[in-house]
Amino acid sequence: MSDSQVTIIGAGPSGLTLAWWLVEQGISVTVLERETVIPSDMRASTFHPATLDLLTDSGLAAALIERGTVVPQWQYLIHESGERAVFDMSHLSEVTAYPFRLQCEQFQLTELLAEKLAKQPLCELRLGATLQSVIPGESQVTVQYQSAGEDCAHVCDWLIAADGASSQVRKSLGLDFDGQTFPKTSITLVLEYPFEDDIPNLLGVNYVWLPDRHYSLMRLRNTWRLTYSPEQDQDIESALSEAIAQTHIARVSPRASGAAILTRNYYTLHQRCLARFCHGRTLFVGDAAHLNSPAGGMGMNSGIHDARSLADHLVPVINGDDPLLLERYDRRRRTIAQEEVQRLSARNYARHRETEVSKRVLIWNELQEIVSDPVKHRDFLLDAAMIRSRQREMTIE
Ligand SMILES: Cc1cc2nc3c(=O)[nH]c(=O)nc-3n(C[C@H](O)[C@H](O)[C@H](O)COP(=O)(O)OP(=O)(O)OC[C@H]3O[C@@H](n4cnc5c(N)ncnc54)[C@H](O)[C@@H]3O)c2cc1C
Repeated sequence: MSDSQVTIIGAGPSGLTLAWWLVEQGISVTVLERETVIPSDMRASTFHPATLDLLTDSGLAAALIERGTVVPQWQYLIHESGERAVFDMSHLSEVTAYPFRLQCEQFQLTELLAEKLAKQPLCELRLGATLQSVIPGESQVTVQYQSAGEDCAHVCDWLIAADGASSQVRKSLGLDFDGQTFPKTSITLVLEYPFEDDIPNLLGVNYVWLPDRHYSLMRLRNTWRLTYSPEQDQDIESALSEAIAQTHIARVSPRASGAAILTRNYYTLHQRCLARFCHGRTLFVGDAAHLNSPAGGMGMNSGIHDARSLADHLVPVINGDDPLLLERYDRRRRTIAQEEVQRLSARNYARHRETEVSKRVLIWNELQEIVSDPVKHRDFLLDAAMIRSRQREMTIE
């Protein structure tokens, strides 16, 4: 006898959306999460239209909109001259109920899901449960984990690895995670300072070019997030120091110099992907399966798209269909991770961070050409809003 039909390791956005879509269809789920509270780290802040469309039926899209900031237009902005390339999401109003980017922290989604799942008798969320190892079997999977200092074991029919970039499930199975680390690291500061009062025409999402670097300024309900690459040779401690962080704030807005920094984080950025997302009865979703640059805000969104696709494939298998169906989940979501999400986010990474004048001119001309032509504008936004990758996924057999 198994302890649960499905066990999910990790209560991040991928793990909890999958848990929700499984219990909704009558599947019993146990979620094991290492932290003792739902993590509230400052990572994803952008929900794209394709994801909000998926979160409509559960009421989650509406609940997130209540907690976030709706951004119908976003832009590239040349800081010195004030020139702009403005992307207008209303070009997508025929293909989505949400023609905007929603700026809202990822923990708002996971907290909402944890609340909803707590009311579901089919779901058990065990916090403070750290996965140690996985023992795959022919018809079941055993996981060993630690909880409150005790060694515990748990048996399930299907195991889902949703335990993020450093996945212990992946390590326990000895799987390679091939790819590369991006040359530039990233720092994100969260401030309450009203940048909109200092910088004319600021929108909710801004990719801001200064002559020698790039800053992104993202609006959340009560705060702004300022993201940039520190100097290449700077150690993390200096890069995060108050003095150096304030220098960067002052470059974006001299009047903001000295503003209180609520949180500051340093990130190394990777692009990696598993060779397969399905390993017997252990199935991978989200950052545990693939990583990309956060430029353009696609990691969490694609993890949620994985979760939707996996629910659509796993439920029929649990109900008696041939497990070979899961191979289609692998083909669909691995293709999208590699050929859409990684391609687009790497292009964004390069576009945002370019500082060579002649290359910037080319990028700028291309952006202007896109925004001034309605067909190209819409086409560009179908990719950026992750609508095209969802459409393509459905065509992969
Ligand atoms: C600076 C930055 C900005 C970003 N901005 C965006 C954005 O705007 N939009 C976007 O779409 N994406 C963005 N991303 C990416 C996004 O944050 C990730 O893709 C997303 O969090 C992946 O979700 P996940 O559920 O797969 O993994 P995670 O969110 O990492 O969740 C994994 C969970 O597993 C738990 N866990 C780990 N190990 C164990 C273990 N051994 N046992 C039990 N539990 C375990 C962790 O505690 C965690 O709760 C950003 C990333 C960064 C770094």
